[in-house]
Amino acid sequence: MRRNIHLKLVLILVLLIVSLMVVVGAFLMNSVTGYYINEFYSQIAAAFGQDNADFVRDLQNTSEDETDGAAMIEAVLSAYEGVLGVDRRTRNFYVLDGSTGRCLAGSGPEPEGGLAVTPNLSKALRGKPGFESSVTADYMDAAIPITRGGQSYIVYILDNRQTAQALNSEMFSLIIEAMVLGLIISILLSFLLSKTMVRPLQRLTDGIELAAGGDFSHKLEVTSSDEIGQLTESFNAMAKQLQSTIAAVENERNKLDTLFLHMADGVVAFDREERVIHSNPAAARLLGRTFTQQDRYGELFGDLYTFTQAKAAKAGLTGSRTVDGRYLELLLAPFAREGQGGVLVLIHDVTEQREAEQQRKDFVANVSHELRTPLTNIKSYAETLNDGIGDLPPEMEKKFLGVILNESDRMTHILQDLLTLSRFDSGRSELHLTRFHFAKAVDDTYQAVLMDAQNHAHTIKLDLAEWLPQVRADRERIMQVMMNIVSNAIKYTPDGGRIVLSAGIDGDKVWMQVDDNGIGIPARDRDRIFERFYRVDKARSRQSGGTGLGLSIAQEIMLQHEGRLYLVDKDQPGLTIRMELPIAGPREEAGHEG
Ligand code: ADP
Repeated sequence: MRRNIHLKLVLILVLLIVSLMVVVGAFLMNSVTGYYINEFYSQIAAAFGQDNADFVRDLQNTSEDETDGAAMIEAVLSAYEGVLGVDRRTRNFYVLDGSTGRCLAGSGPEPEGGLAVTPNLSKALRGKPGFESSVTADYMDAAIPITRGGQSYIVYILDNRQTAQALNSEMFSLIIEAMVLGLIISILLSFLLSKTMVRPLQRLTDGIELAAGGDFSHKLEVTSSDEIGQLTESFNAMAKQLQSTIAAVENERNKLDTLFLHMADGVVAFDREERVIHSNPAAARLLGRTFTQQDRYGELFGDLYTFTQAKAAKAGLTGSRTVDGRYLELLLAPFAREGQGGVLVLIHDVTEQREAEQQRKDFVANVSHELRTPLTNIKSYAETLNDGIGDLPPEMEKKFLGVILNESDRMTHILQDLLTLSRFDSGRSELHLTRFHFAKAVDDTYQAVLMDAQNHAHTIKLDLAEWLPQVRADRERIMQVMMNIVSNAIKYTPDGGRIVLSAGIDGDKVWMQVDDNGIGIPARDRDRIFERFYRVDKARSRQSGGTGLGLSIAQEIMLQHEGRLYLVDKDQPGLTIRMELPIAGPREEAGHEG
């Protein structure tokens, strides 16, 4: 660029100087010639004018003994050479015959080939003085007709303009010299100018190149207030604006990228050639596969809708699919990108919602079922009693009434348990936290069930650690949990079984474990026994007064205390269930100190 501008500058300056010199030269040379011609004619005119009457008279007046008029005229002219400016070198005078134009005498030799018949000469031959000369001609002349002694002559003055030409050629060489000097100056000047003009432009170009490469931090220095300065300022402002816009866009993109990366829903985007252009980790996880650019829409989702259908559906299309036991809902929607567009597939995992929905349905069905059984019993016994009033033996009536009471107790029990659970669910159940001796609570539980255990001929053993701390918890609830798991051990162990109640401390937690050698729980049911109404053997549970809600309530209570209730793996027959409780109580205030 620099070379270009420099060359242009040189060219402009050279052209300027050459044209200036040509115009000035032509004007000067023309003026010199014009001046010279003017001078010539005014000199001649003055010589023949009023002020020089002597001269004219000497030319015209004859002397008495005159024989050669031409010689006389020549003598007069010679005498007045100074007035006529005749130097006999560049300017000569001639005396011509007035009628033939023949040269009779002269201050110098007649030019070779004779005197040319110039317009002035032919005018004088016609008897009028000729006083005109063209600027372009290489001579100037004046022809004045005179009469002497009845004879007509022409005084002809011819100047070969050598003086003017010499002056002109002098001037020409001067102009050439000035032009050469001018050119040298213009070249030097062009260097200087190109330096001052090109440097800021070069800096601007460098800045633009950096900006094009993405570096906007480079602020250009504004060194002048001219157009280049303004351009630099505008560029700086534009770069700043662009930098902040790019930063904002990048920020947005980063946000979207992070969102895209960490969102739980899967996203797969296809371009209009049906190629995968984006996919997030969630999509890979949910669909159980990875994606590459080679993957096509058709192979992945073609079974739901064709690409054309998905691209045309402005409001989006929905579909579902089950992958590895997970239930997925899919939304297919078109997107436009720079007029090209493609299809976006959103994958939403609804397994949990479905399971929750299923659980809710099961729960309602369970509640209805659980309540219907005692109700049916109550109804049928009450009907029998009603039908046979007075006919039934009193023992039978008593037995029936006993069953009715039992069943209504069971219903109350179920309803109480349901109420407790619903309080947990709605977060309305508060813990009444107090400090109490954990060992004492375990011992109280042991004492409470001892009789029942003995009734079933179980051997029940208490195995407490030497020292157990005070804990901060809701004593009544913790006792409820303990009672539930020990009662279960008694219930689900055939008579004459062995039950061990142990308790200890483990870091910042205390634990209680109930170990029995009863029927245990089959491996496939172990994960589910904390579910509501889940019972391995429904008949047996119901028979022993169970509702199937005990362990779910117990687990809720332990969770509220930020503790744990879980089954311990063991090889021997029977079941080991363990509860763990943080000594300091729940960190987040789930209840209030009682
Ligand atoms: P239930 O009122 O039926 O006892 P739970 O919620 O207390 O309800 O217990 C759920 C189920 O877990 C019981 O029905 C039973 O099948 C099983 N279970 C609980 N404890 C034991 C145990 N110690 N041994 C064998 N099975 C047990």
